[in-house]
Amino acid sequence: MIKENVRKILNELPVGVELVAAAKTRSAEEILEAVKGGIKIIGENYVQEAEKIQALTAHRSPLTVKIKWHFIGHLQRNKVKRATNLFDIIESVDCLASGEEINKASVQEDKIMPILIEINSGREEQKFGVLPENAEDLVRKLSKFSNIKIMGLMTMGPRFGNPEDARPYFKETKKIFERIKTANFPNVEMKFLSMGMSNSYRIAIAEGANIVRIGTGIFGKR
Ligand SMILES: *Cc1c(COP(=O)(O)O)cnc(C)c1O
Repeated sequence: MIKENVRKILNELPVGVELVAAAKTRSAEEILEAVKGGIKIIGENYVQEAEKIQALTAHRSPLTVKIKWHFIGHLQRNKVKRATNLFDIIESVDCLASGEEINKASVQEDKIMPILIEINSGREEQKFGVLPENAEDLVRKLSKFSNIKIMGLMTMGPRFGNPEDARPYFKETKKIFERIKTANFPNVEMKFLSMGMSNSYRIAIAEGANIVRIGTGIFGKR
């Protein structure tokens, strides 16, 4: 079933839109099944979970080679070092301190860490992300760090019964994306706009998303 779900979604996605399998709480077996269906990017919310899955699947093709890992959860300071080792992109940077930590760890490892800035487009108190009006300033400040590379934005947006209600939040995030692109900060390449989940990805794509993060729609109910 997982394999079929992935194939169906991949068939539906326009060219240029990448699919991240949001894999929190899923087993190594389930994730391998998704990879067999064609998943190329795995999204994890927890550093420990990614470590566990990567260890369990390290000897298994095709996960050994071409799979990319995106961190999509809230990154705790004491896990930054491990995260920079485990992930290809950290999608959820939302403050200067976090970017600074990632930069420091990346300097030590002599690597450049691609990151996205998470926008709290719904302005929800319980959610992470920088407020829309503060996003550009944060990007300007982070752009001065030598070993992180800002490559776009991510947003969750409020969860609605009717996904159509999410559209204004995607629109606003896209506007910020374009504004920052125009600002032409050094060391910033606005390439990825990560928004849309199982119930809202079609609307997110219509509003300009080129990364969608899907969990339930691939793996079933959590
Ligand atoms: C869980 C999760 C998703 C996927 O949500 P679904 O509704 O299961 O598709 C996407 N993005 C983030 C950051 C998540 O934590």
